[in-house]
Amino acid sequence: MEGLKKFPPRPTGAGEMFQLFRDGEPRTRAALVATTGQSRSTVAARIDALCAVGLLAPSGEATSTGGRPPSTFAFVPDARIVLGVDLGATHARLAVTDLAGAVLAELEAPLAIADGPDAVLGWTAEAGEKLVVGAGRSLEDLAGVGIGLPGPVDHATGHPVNPPLMPGWDAVDVPAALSRRFRTPTALVDNDVNIMALGEHRTALPDERDLLFVKVATGIGAGLVMDGRLRRGAQGAAGDLGHVAVPGARDVPCRCGNVGCLEAIAGGQAIATALRAGGADVTTASDVVALVRGGDVAASQAVRQAGRDIGAVLAACVSLLNPSRIVIGGVLAEAGEHLVAGIREIVYQRSLPLATQHLRITASLTGAHAGVLGAGAMVTEQFLASASVDELVAQSSEQR
Ligand SMILES: [Zn+2]
Repeated sequence: MEGLKKFPPRPTGAGEMFQLFRDGEPRTRAALVATTGQSRSTVAARIDALCAVGLLAPSGEATSTGGRPPSTFAFVPDARIVLGVDLGATHARLAVTDLAGAVLAELEAPLAIADGPDAVLGWTAEAGEKLVVGAGRSLEDLAGVGIGLPGPVDHATGHPVNPPLMPGWDAVDVPAALSRRFRTPTALVDNDVNIMALGEHRTALPDERDLLFVKVATGIGAGLVMDGRLRRGAQGAAGDLGHVAVPGARDVPCRCGNVGCLEAIAGGQAIATALRAGGADVTTASDVVALVRGGDVAASQAVRQAGRDIGAVLAACVSLLNPSRIVIGGVLAEAGEHLVAGIREIVYQRSLPLATQHLRITASLTGAHAGVLGAGAMVTEQFLASASVDELVAQSSEQR
C-alpha cells in the first residue's frame, strides 16, 4: 500500500516550530529551513513572533563557515513560571518551576485537607504567592497553577467526586476558585497519584514509553503513563487499585464496604494495625517506615508481605498493560528495599516471560517531589502545546 504511506507532518505554524526548541538546543534560521522545508522568510517571521512573546531569544552565534556567523536562537525556560501544588490528607507541598521543570522555590507545610476548600485554597493562594515572590517573580509571570488532590477528580471538570478523605469538597469548582485567587486563566486539577506518575515520568524517566506508578501510603493507587501520555480512563478513575480484591486474601473488612481489598490488606494503615496487634507502638504509615528503618524484624517482614500482596494485583496489571517500568512511590516506598523486593518476587513469578523480559520495578527517583513536579508539568504541557503557543502569538500580534 505504498500510495497510502503517511509522512510525518512538517511544522506548520509558530507553535509547531517552537516544539523543535523544547529540547533546549539552539538553532539557526538555516537549520530550521532545512528541518521544516519552509521558506527562509516564513522561518524568520516565526522566529520573530516567538521572540516577541518571550519564548525564544537570540542565544549566540553558530560556527561560521566563512563570512558573518549566523545567529542562533533558543528556548527561554524562565519566560514564565508555573506553580505546582500537591495536597495530601495532612500536608501540602508547593513548588515554583520554570517552563523546563527546574525548581526555583519549594516549600512543605502541615495542612489538613478536612478543613474544607475555603480554608485550604485560601492558605494555598497565600503560600503560593509568597513562594512566587520569594523566587523573585510575580503572579503576572504565572503560566498557570496545577494542583493534585488526595481523592477522585472528574478529569473533564476538575471537580472532586465524593472524595472520602475530603469532607466539604464534593463537586467544588476547584479550577475556578484557583483561577480567581491566582488571577490566571489556567488552573488544572487532577488526583495526586496521576500527578505523581506524570512528575516521575517527565522529570526522571522521560524515555520510558509505558510506565505504571504505584503509590503505597495509607491508601494504594496507581497512575498510568501509556505511550508517553497519562491515561485517566473514561471518568478519570483509571489506576484505582486500592479496592481490587487480593487473590486468596483473608476476609479483612475495608472502609469501602467490601472485604479483602488491597488497601485493607497491604496499605500503611493495615500494616500499622497488624503490627499494633503484635504489641508495637505504631499508628501511621510513617511510623511503620520508622520501625523498618530502625531494624525491626516484624515490621520489615510485614512490609515485605505487603509487597507480595501488592505484587499479586500488579501481576494482573502487567499482563493487561505490559509496562516497561513499574515505579513504587508513596511513603512506604521509603522503607528500604523490603516493599519493592516483595513486589518483584510475586510479579516476576506470576507474569509470563514476554511481559517481564525487560520489565524493571524500582523505587521512585523523585520521591516526595513527584507530585509538585507533575502538577507543574501538567500546566507546562498545556501552556507550551502548539495550539496554545499559536494563540499566545496571535494575542501578542493583536496588541502590537
Ligand atoms: Zn475497599
